[in-house]
Amino acid sequence: MQKNGKFMGKQPKKDNAIAYCHSKQHQGFMSENIIKAHGCLRKNCPYLEKYENMQYWKDRAKKKADKKARKNSDSPKMTTSVA
Ligand SMILES: [Zn+2]
Repeated sequence: MQKNGKFMGKQPKKDNAIAYCHSKQHQGFMSENIIKAHGCLRKNCPYLEKYENMQYWKDRAKKKADKKARKNSDSPKMTTSVA
């Protein structure tokens, strides 16, 4: 597949965007990399519109659930208080 000229542009095309951010500061389609760069998720950007049907979010939710399950299973009974 030939993407004539500049691929890796500043912003992704709708096709590979996983979200759209309505923030005035970085409005546009968001790819995974851009979301990370802008910290939309970290900052809990209220303008971020997730495309929930994208695999990325499903993977993310799964990872989160896995982590939670793991945390619950190896219960931290050995919490030593560090002064
Ligand atoms: Zn944002």
